[in-house]
Amino acid sequence: MSEKINCGNCGMLLYFGEEIKRRLYMRAIPDESAVLADYGDRCPRCGSSLSADSVKIEIKRRVVHES
Ligand SMILES: [Zn+2]
Repeated sequence: MSEKINCGNCGMLLYFGEEIKRRLYMRAIPDESAVLADYGDRCPRCGSSLSADSVKIEIKRRVVHES
């Protein structure tokens, strides 16, 4: 599973990678709010404040190509 976090206002990509819940298990990232805190809780493009409620979080199953 991969996870994508976009600004809810302008759509700026804030995070893309391994699902955070899984990284949580590996203790790489505590949770989504830590990702947002990396940006100072503000979108670097449009300046709107970031919170778990205002961003768009998309979790996708990894597509496996079989040959
Ligand atoms: Zn934005």
